[in-house]
Amino acid sequence: MSFLPFTRPTIDEETIAAVGEVLRSGWITSGPRVRAFEAALSEYCGGRPVRAFSSATAAMEVALRLAGVGPGDEVITTPLTWVACANVVLTLGARPVLVDIDAATRNIDLALVGAAVTAKTRALLPVDLAGLPVDRDRLYAIAQRHGLRVVEDAAQSFGASWRGRPIGTSFGQGRDFVSFSFHANKNITTGEGGALVLPDDIDPDLCERLRLQGVERFPDGTMDVDVLGGKFNLTDIAAAIGLGQLKRLEAFTARRHELARRYFEHFHRLAIPGLELPPADFENSNWHMYQVLLPDHADRGAFIKAMQERGIGIGVHYPALHLFSLYRRLGFEPGDFPRAERVGGQTVTLPLFPAMHDADVERVCDAVAEILE
Ligand SMILES: *Cc1c(COP(=O)(O)O)cnc(C)c1O
Repeated sequence: MSFLPFTRPTIDEETIAAVGEVLRSGWITSGPRVRAFEAALSEYCGGRPVRAFSSATAAMEVALRLAGVGPGDEVITTPLTWVACANVVLTLGARPVLVDIDAATRNIDLALVGAAVTAKTRALLPVDLAGLPVDRDRLYAIAQRHGLRVVEDAAQSFGASWRGRPIGTSFGQGRDFVSFSFHANKNITTGEGGALVLPDDIDPDLCERLRLQGVERFPDGTMDVDVLGGKFNLTDIAAAIGLGQLKRLEAFTARRHELARRYFEHFHRLAIPGLELPPADFENSNWHMYQVLLPDHADRGAFIKAMQERGIGIGVHYPALHLFSLYRRLGFEPGDFPRAERVGGQTVTLPLFPAMHDADVERVCDAVAEILE
């Protein structure tokens, strides 16, 4: 039986041919494909300005700079996310303020956010873990009450929606940033890449300068640099992949939903004692991941190894980030965010990707039951 990874991108032959065309065209870095990809993303996001980036990490860094985040400021985020979320805050000389998760959604507990706001808070950076959107109604009520910018980390929620409207369209009255990732493991990919949806009151030209060395070019061939920018542009090679992927988004998301439903069916039938299933949201989630929590007594390392021996790949997304050495040195301690620590300690990501077969789900569920028995 062939090895079943926890995820794998689906790239069609048409996309591979489109990449070949870019390579033969003589223009392989940022150019017409990037502009076409940005236009397609903008259309998906209800016509909002979108700029492509080399990663979501880069997009979030630029978003926070555009939101005015700098040394001494605070940004509120969740401890149960990819470490990029807190790293970008540190990169800007600001302080990540972590708020524990809600046990049901595993996203930031919105009931605790208000109490974490101080005079130094500049922005909220909520994360749609596993593709399950943070409650946008409550989120923006809080942001408005405290006059805070929001940078939505939608790295995992491209294709998801909130109350029937796609993530990426504005839930914050046009003042919100939305960051997408197109890393190889995400629902659509460009290999590596990301995009930033811009608020109405932010100059897209300034965003472009922050993306590429602060350079502003003039029609007479001269240039100026009046702001410090990074090196965060996407290539046309990557954008060609993204254009091919975007066409498949709806089909990918539908397939993910089907597979998630199968997981629930099989797990309900197996009724494994102590195994916690994810929140069963088939209205909003894009099912970026299907994550279960192992029973409290289970040894995750041994479980992952046993699954591996059965030819099944397992992911861990994520250990609570405040327990990493870098963050411990900043003063965070075990016990600070007990719910994130529990989920971070017991979570496993089971295989789920569009090219998976229905029978693979049964195979995974049976293996989980056998190992935990
Ligand atoms: C993947 C991911 C990122 C970072 O995306 P890159 O494109 O790899 O920089 C950030 N946040 C979350 C929640 C992610 O899953």
